[in-house]
Amino acid sequence: MAIKYTPEPFRIKMVETIKMTTREEREQKIAAAHYNLFNLRGEDVYIDLLTDSGTNAMSQEQWAGVMRGDEAYAGASSYFKLVETAQEIFGYDYIQPVHQGRAAEKVLFPSFLHKGQFAISNMFFDTTRAHVELAGARAIDCVVEEAKDPSKRCKFKGNMDVVKLEQLIQEHGAENIGLVVMTITNNSAGGQPVSMQNMKDVSEICKKYGIPLDIDAARYAENAYFVKRDEETCKDMSIMEIIHKMFSYADMFTMSAKKDTIVNMGGLIGIKDQTKNADLIMKIKANCISFEGFITYGGLAGRDLEALAIGLREGLDESYLKYRIGQMEYLASLLDDAGIAYQSPVGGHGVFVDAKAMFPQIPYYEFPGQVLGVELYKEAGIRACDIGSYMLGNDPDTGKQLHADFEFTRLAVPRRVYTQAHFDIMADALIAIQKRAHEIKHGYKITWEPPILRHFQASLAPIEK
Ligand SMILES: *Cc1c(COP(=O)(O)O)cnc(C)c1O
Repeated sequence: MAIKYTPEPFRIKMVETIKMTTREEREQKIAAAHYNLFNLRGEDVYIDLLTDSGTNAMSQEQWAGVMRGDEAYAGASSYFKLVETAQEIFGYDYIQPVHQGRAAEKVLFPSFLHKGQFAISNMFFDTTRAHVELAGARAIDCVVEEAKDPSKRCKFKGNMDVVKLEQLIQEHGAENIGLVVMTITNNSAGGQPVSMQNMKDVSEICKKYGIPLDIDAARYAENAYFVKRDEETCKDMSIMEIIHKMFSYADMFTMSAKKDTIVNMGGLIGIKDQTKNADLIMKIKANCISFEGFITYGGLAGRDLEALAIGLREGLDESYLKYRIGQMEYLASLLDDAGIAYQSPVGGHGVFVDAKAMFPQIPYYEFPGQVLGVELYKEAGIRACDIGSYMLGNDPDTGKQLHADFEFTRLAVPRRVYTQAHFDIMADALIAIQKRAHEIKHGYKITWEPPILRHFQASLAPIEK
């Protein structure tokens, strides 16, 4: 039986009209887009679940902040407000704004990673993996085994496999591991949380081998909500206390602020200990000035810094987080009723439908996650994305198609944007596709691809036999 929808702890003050299209129009548009959902025009999408990144609805306080934003080139008051807010939340000394998450990676990673080295993560997000490789190193995923079985319901499926982590360090030599990255929540594994205990264990291993520990912090607030809900030892802590403690185990963080801080653009770098890391901070500042802009704006307008400072706090509100995670739980329960498999229990920022289970007849190299993504668009104008072999791409050394651990279609949910009726439409569309899934015999082939991060730009064609 479906659970109740958690009501919104806000009301709507401004609306944006969305276009309704016919199935015929959508079939023609997706063909013209070479079956790549990133090539569609946003206006041709009814419910846009391509990503929860930068697609959030800001509050009236944030919009008021936009008007107050200080546009001084150097030393803007909005910069100081942002830095002081972040210092208070994370307990870190040095805070550097940048224009988005991948900019944080670009500015920070070259100080830790070089050719011949490795970075190990509970799972790398796609751009994070790309920046490890651009720095010349190789990225290794080390998530717990249970994450790889979408039907296995257990807590903290985003965790690092600590036994395997230590084996990998010994196998490659501690001196060749430039960085360990803890992604919270674990985006690629389905928005699955990382426990406090796991963060502590990983931190101890990193200390033992002298390897720096970075938190990829895009969804740190959703992660804290899961820790409070599901980790016995943390149930009486506030969200803020959980975040403080979690970040105390790492040395630095890189953050896409387009997720849990509920803005449309922004990113942060944090360094815990300023005195121990004077050289590193100097390098960060130099890279930031070259790539992003002067250190007190980091590629953002003053109004963005102001909205970000406000969003950092709004994202920690417990009734907001309950509603937010409640949306995922609601959709997941509708799928449970219909017998549709997804990464379970449901994670923080979306529902990751198990496309391999829906299309067992389609092999990984014909991209089942992409098949379901295209079907969702044709069925109901819903735009999702593949998180599977299509996204993973080719081995950078051999050029061979990699075989992903999962073939998901991710329905990522923008924050404070869609209502219960939209969620019912998502479930109905998935149920309709499930009914005719066996009729779809083949997937897609790639007719053109760029050398890196191919899924954003590649052209595909249906395989017909
Ligand atoms: C979105 C994201 C990034 C990259 O951030 P952008 O703001 O998109 O550049 C990095 N890591 C994780 C886990 C993310 O979700």
